Amino acid sequence: MSQTSNPCQHMNLASSSIGDVKYCADCGIVHLAVQNLSLRLETETFRTLTYMLAQAQLNMEDHEHYSRHQYQAVQNVKPFIKKTH
Ligand SMILES: [Zn+2]
Repeated sequence: MSQTSNPCQHMNLASSSIGDVKYCADCGIVHLAVQNLSLRLETETFRTLTYMLAQAQLNMEDHEHYSRHQYQAVQNVKPFIKKTH
């Protein structure tokens, strides 16, 4: 019989079709699993990552909306192309 150290108790924080997020209170570590990717993050790093991803998503949606708008504008109106160089 080897060491009797208690295995970490991972609390499930969230899960989806692509992976899940678990928290280990003993280590103060967030386990992020996405497809075949697995990350162990300190809580503060995880928070920063979450904000960063949320920001990225917002920017991506802005960009997609803007692109769609531009595309429609190109179809309806002859675009004024400004040459900067
Ligand atoms: Zn742990």
